[in-house]
Amino acid sequence: MKDRLYLYDTTLRDGAQTNGVDFTLADKLAIAKMLDDLGIDYVEGGYPGANPTDTELFAEERKLSSTLTAFGMTRRPGRSTSNDTGLAALLEAKADAICFVAKASDYHVRVALETTLEENMAAIRDSVRAAKGAGREALVDCEHFFDGYKTNPNYALACARAAHEEGARWVVLCDTNGGTLPHEVGAIVAAVVKCIPGEKVGIHAHNDTEQAVANSLAAVRAGARQIQGTLNGLGERCGNANLVSIIPTLKLKPEFSDRFEIGVSDASLQKLAHVSRVVDEMLNRAPNRHAPYVGESAFATKAGIHASAILKDPATYEHVVPEAVGNRRKVLVSDQAGKSNLLAELERIGIAIAKDDMRIGRLLEEVKEREAMGYAYEAADASFELLARRTLGTVPDYFLVERFKVNVERRYNAVGDLVTVAEAIVKVKVGDEVLISAAEGNGPVNALDLALRKDLGKYQRYIEGLELVDYRVRILNAGSEAVTRVLIESEDDNGERWTTVGVSSNIIDASFQAMMDSIVYKLVRAGASA
Ligand SMILES: [Zn+2]
Repeated sequence: MKDRLYLYDTTLRDGAQTNGVDFTLADKLAIAKMLDDLGIDYVEGGYPGANPTDTELFAEERKLSSTLTAFGMTRRPGRSTSNDTGLAALLEAKADAICFVAKASDYHVRVALETTLEENMAAIRDSVRAAKGAGREALVDCEHFFDGYKTNPNYALACARAAHEEGARWVVLCDTNGGTLPHEVGAIVAAVVKCIPGEKVGIHAHNDTEQAVANSLAAVRAGARQIQGTLNGLGERCGNANLVSIIPTLKLKPEFSDRFEIGVSDASLQKLAHVSRVVDEMLNRAPNRHAPYVGESAFATKAGIHASAILKDPATYEHVVPEAVGNRRKVLVSDQAGKSNLLAELERIGIAIAKDDMRIGRLLEEVKEREAMGYAYEAADASFELLARRTLGTVPDYFLVERFKVNVERRYNAVGDLVTVAEAIVKVKVGDEVLISAAEGNGPVNALDLALRKDLGKYQRYIEGLELVDYRVRILNAGSEAVTRVLIESEDDNGERWTTVGVSSNIIDASFQAMMDSIVYKLVRAGASA
């Protein structure tokens, strides 16, 4: 029999404290749904009464399988539970559970809360009792627990014990400042579970020494059975414990998977990379390429000897199978690459070619030449695939852009406001048909993109759902002159993403090349015939 470990997500509350993150109600509901589908046990939705979004979130039943949890403070010192508006908002919230944040450090009780140690303990007891009386599951987040324990272990433990004795389902030990180290977390949690059963103890770690994940795992080793964290490690300062790293570690590393069971199934685990990227997209942030398990580079290999070993047996350089977390192996094609990288990449994208085919040498030359000009194929997998297929002669000439024109005008409009208007006109030949499209955009690249994708005749249906989701520009010094490299990330309606590249001394032209590659790549993938 394995022990059950519980996962508690606080992306929507602690994660919302991240600089620059501002969830709408729709964002919160979408993320809650994803967490529920993933198999997360607890979803902390927010702090009812603290802001309109969170109040609205808890105004209706949200019908999740996860335990929807409202977060808030214990009753205020010197007030009764029936005379505390904050507590009333928590008890009214349509939530399955209430997580109270309570001070567990004598220093914070005196200095921040300005009350007595006894009154703080009474507030913990009264609040848990009120939540249970209202039919809710109760959790108590013991704030500054580890710092408090170091200076006054008896008081920190007494707070935790008070919560437990009143019937809190979980007593959560918080490393609020994030400065505690794994061996300290291990030792302190081991001491706590001598007083409170481990199956009632949780860990809430912050990442200020880059060890929030390690601290969470140390707490589990020492006996804690609930882990609190966020998607992609969102959270104020350096973030919270990253559930996206913790989940695969619990599922795939025998030390944990042999001993523990979590609510995330193997099938859900395969959606993890997707979930991580969707969250980044909602926040309009570029995904962290180097994120463990789910980052685009998490299973990417560059150097020639590693690549040839990976071809023989992937386990030589991979600690887990990339597909287990919905990621994939990637052998980077670059000017450092040898033939083995190239062959591995061709095999991955499904291009069958004999090892001694003359065209491989030609493709390698072409890649090296173009990378010297500024193209970056290791970042632009779709452009690489097109280059490879073109060298092998398998990309149809779907359409020809005969000409395009982009106009940017800055002027005063009829009511005297200064406006900048961008327009693009594109003339495309599809078979014998000549199509002319025009579009306005919020900038020249956007206008060109819209005009180009407006009407591609018989191919239009293939690109309907195509969307440009990220656009990155770098100025490079290639040879004697500065050139612009544009990387475009596109997405289709299946959620599939790919990156293309363009290089030119002119930013519009570089963008155009990358857009063209993106469209042609989509047509190739969709199996469109010329
Ligand atoms: Zn926190």
